[in-house]
Order: sequence, then C-alpha cells, then structure tokens
Amino acid sequence: MSDCIFCKIINGDFNTEFVYENEYAVVFRDINPKADTHLLVVPRKHVESLNELDDEFLLGKLMMTVKEAAKKAGLKSYRTVINTGKEAGQEVFHLHIHILAGSIKL
Ligand code: 5GP
Ligand code: ZN
Repeated sequence: MSDCIFCKIINGDFNTEFVYENEYAVVFRDINPKADTHLLVVPRKHVESLNELDDEFLLGKLMMTVKEAAKKAGLKSYRTVINTGKEAGQEVFHLHIHILAGSIKL
C-alpha cells in the first residue's frame, strides 16, 4: 500500500532500525513509546487490522515473532496489545502487535 506508513517503513523508506525481522514480520521501536520498551511487530504483508486477517498461519507466525523479538530484546515479562478499529485506539491501519515492558503508561 503506497500511502501506508508501516508499508513505507518495511520498504526501508525511513531507514528505520529493525530490532528483529524474519520472513513474515519486522519489529521496530514505537516512535512515541508508552513503556520503557515499546516495540511494534508488523507483518510484511499489508493487512488493515485483525478484522481483515483470515490467515491463521500468519497470525501464528506473528505471535512467534513477538516471543522471538522479546527474547532478543532481553524481555522476560511483557504485555502484548492489538488495537482493532478507530474507537479502540487504532491509529495506523496496518495490523501490528505492541510489545510493552517496564513502566507501562497504557
Ligand atoms: P495503534 O494506535 O495504531 O495501535 O498504534 C500505532 C503506533 O504506531 C503508535 O503507538 C504510534 O506511536 C506508532 N507510530 C506511528 N507512526 C510511526 C512511525 O512513523 N514510526 C514508528 N516507529 N512508530 C510510529
Ligand atoms: Zn501497510
């Protein structure tokens, strides 16, 4: 999606550092962190939100990516959040899973 900020990040348009990546997803730091560590797990494939996801294989891979990225970041204890829909606080309409650890302001 050409006008999607996360697609642009995945494409390397902003030189965003990936703290972890694999075949299915990239992981980078949230620009406006709501915890000591705030990472975003973002599928390489553009899917608007969880409501548009019908690929349970990808969902499994994304959750495994959460675990792997948390381990790489040295996190033993963390919260995962998926905001689905504007009223629930979704601002970027490219599916992503938040990983929050440390002092969480959410
Ligand atoms: P949402 O509210 O959609 O669940 O989460 C979107 C998150 O993306 C927000 O926490 C916001 O701070 C983050 N974000 C928005 N634009 C950018 C960006 O350009 N770069 C990074 N690293 N994070 C972003
Ligand atoms: Zn996208």
